[in-house]
Amino acid sequence: MDSYALVGGHVWDSAQACLRPGLAIHVNAGRIAAVCPPDQLPPDLPRIDVSGHSVVPGLIDVHVHSEDWHAPLYLANGVTTVRDTGCALEEILDRRRRWNGDGAVAPRLICCGPLIDGPGKSWLPMSVIVHTPEEARCQVDQLVAAGVDQIKLYASLEWPCFLAALDQAKRHGKFTVAHLQDAGNARQAIEAGVDEIEHLSGCAEALWPERRAFGMPWIKLWPDLSRDRVRALVSLIVERNVWMAVTLAVWRKVGTAWDPRHGDHPQTRYVPAALRAWWNQQYPPVMADDLRLAWARALPAMQIFTAHLIERGARIIAGSDTPFVNLLPGFSLHDELQILVECGMRPAQALDAATRLAAEALQIGHLIGTIESGKQADLLVVNGDPTADIRALGRIAGVIRDGRWFDPGALLAEAADYAATAQPRSQRRLSEIY
Ligand SMILES: [Zn+2]
Repeated sequence: MDSYALVGGHVWDSAQACLRPGLAIHVNAGRIAAVCPPDQLPPDLPRIDVSGHSVVPGLIDVHVHSEDWHAPLYLANGVTTVRDTGCALEEILDRRRRWNGDGAVAPRLICCGPLIDGPGKSWLPMSVIVHTPEEARCQVDQLVAAGVDQIKLYASLEWPCFLAALDQAKRHGKFTVAHLQDAGNARQAIEAGVDEIEHLSGCAEALWPERRAFGMPWIKLWPDLSRDRVRALVSLIVERNVWMAVTLAVWRKVGTAWDPRHGDHPQTRYVPAALRAWWNQQYPPVMADDLRLAWARALPAMQIFTAHLIERGARIIAGSDTPFVNLLPGFSLHDELQILVECGMRPAQALDAATRLAAEALQIGHLIGTIESGKQADLLVVNGDPTADIRALGRIAGVIRDGRWFDPGALLAEAADYAATAQPRSQRRLSEIY
C-alpha cells in the first residue's frame, strides 16, 4: 500500500514536545504527505485506525556496531535508523548500501567507517591504526573519499594524531565522534573542536586532570568528584553545544557483568551462542569484591554527572553500543532511554533524544526524526503514552520505515530462529572480533 493514513492516534509533536489528539498522518510514497485533521484527508484514501495508540517518530540508536543479523531486532524494537560507530570499511559500506536500499528489512544506516585509532589495544578489523599526524590526515582523506558519513576518533590515538585527524575531518566538513581514553581528556577534546563525545569518556579525566586514571576512570575518580568541577565541565559542554552519547546502558551492563539476571533474561533467546561466549570471555560473570564495589560507586557517579548534563540542557542523544557485553540490538536502546529517565530526564525529553536530536547529530534532521510533512515516513505505533511512561515505547503495535509496515512479532521470530541456528564459522566478524 503506497498511500494511506493513520487515524485516531495521538501524534508526537516535536516542536511542542507533546502528543496531540485529533491528527491524522497521510503517508504517500514513503514520505509523510501531511499531518492534518482527518476531515482534510483525500476522501478515498485508505485509513488505518490506530485509536488508543501513540504515533511517534521511528527511534534512532546513535551508537552501534552493526551486523546483518541485527536488522530484524532493530526494526522489531522500533529502531528505524542506526549509526554505526565502528566497523571495517568495506563491510560497512556494503551494509549501508543494502540497508538503505529499496525494500530493505533493516533500519537506515549512517556510518563512521572504522575507528581511527593508535597503537594499543585495537579492535582490528574494526579499526585503522595511525602512528603519525600525517598518517592520521591521510586516513581521514581516505575514509572521506570512500564515502563515510562521519569520522570516529578512538581511544588509543596519540594526541597529535587526534588533533590532526580532527582538523582534517573539519577541513572536509565532517562531523567528529570521539571515544577518549589515552591522550586528551574531554575538556581538551572539546576545546579542540570535537562535535560529539561517547560514553562520557574523557569526562572523569577532565574533572580531575592531575590524576591520571587509565582504563576505567569513573571507577577510580568518583570519590573525588567535586560539584564545582562538575559545574565547570558541564558548562563547557553546554556552551560548545557538544553532543553527548552517554551510553549508560553499556556502563550498567559492564558494571553488573556479575549479575546472573543477564544470562536469565528472556531476550537471550536472540543471542547467537558465539556472541554469548564472547561476552562471557570479555566480562566473565564473576567479579572481584573490590571491583564490584568500585562499579557500585562509578555507575551512580556517571548517572549524577548525566543528571547535571540534563539539568543544564546539554544535548544528550540516545545510543546503546550494541552488541557490546549483554547489549542487544533495539532492546538496549529502550534500556538506555529508561536509564536517562532515571537520571532525571522527562520521558518526552528522552523520546526527543532518540528521535529529533539524534537525527540532528546524524545530520539527517531534514529527512527523519519528527512527524512533519515532507519527512520520510519512519514511524512507531505504540500502546500507551510514552510521555507518561517511557516503557510504552516498547509496547509496539507497528513499525513503519519509509512508509512500509513491519510486524514486530514476525521480525522477532526471525531473529530467534537465526540465534538458534547460527553457525559460528559462518560469522566472520564473530570469529575475528568477538
Ligand atoms: Zn562502540
